Amino acid sequence: MDADITQRRGDVLARIARAAALADRPPPTLIAVSKTHPATAIAPLLAIGQRDFGENRVQEAADKWPALREDHLEAVLHLIGQLQSNKADEAVALFDVIHSVDRLSLVAALARAMDKAGRRPDCFVQVNIGEEAQKGGCAIADLPHLLAQARVADLPVVGLMCIPPADTEAAPYFALLATLARDEGLTGLSMGMSDDFETAAMLGATYVRVGSALFGARG
Ligand SMILES: *Cc1c(COP(=O)(O)O)cnc(C)c1O
Repeated sequence: MDADITQRRGDVLARIARAAALADRPPPTLIAVSKTHPATAIAPLLAIGQRDFGENRVQEAADKWPALREDHLEAVLHLIGQLQSNKADEAVALFDVIHSVDRLSLVAALARAMDKAGRRPDCFVQVNIGEEAQKGGCAIADLPHLLAQARVADLPVVGLMCIPPADTEAAPYFALLATLARDEGLTGLSMGMSDDFETAAMLGATYVRVGSALFGARG
């Protein structure tokens, strides 16, 4: 019954390990992106030892995860989608890592929420690495200021995250994100999805976010 998911996860982990080894880097942590998938599809992955999961909506995660976590206290939950400031309290309560910090107002809202909750999830600043008009993420030119403000607000920023432009070679964007992080003294890199996680692993990703290669296509 769970043979497929076991096989797919094994394949993805092997591909990550191989790519990282080729570049002589440690393999990134696999985040299983479980957005849109029901708890019944997630439980088998937890059962075979998958620890890190990604969701893109606070409400969906709040509906699915408290019950799943009762049996799996080890689960680490990552918010990978855009976050509205008015959901900051809920996000801080629910998630262990937030990958989508992208503007000053959200830095302020998260800092307030963390102070209130006495809980400080690790944060990644999402960069609009392809400078796309419709895309979320902080503009490259605004990154130094946003990071400075995040430090002032005592936000635990551990790295940078990006989603490269669709239908183009991702490698130059991953390399640019790695350079930006290095220049800012940040070691975390959240980059790479189902189509390009091996490239990301070779270019220094510390987290890859993989959905459809694990779960199959989203309905
Ligand atoms: C959905 C999503 C993913 C996973 O995408 P796949 O192509 O299914 O692997 C990764 N990162 C973000 C931010 C996403 O929204």
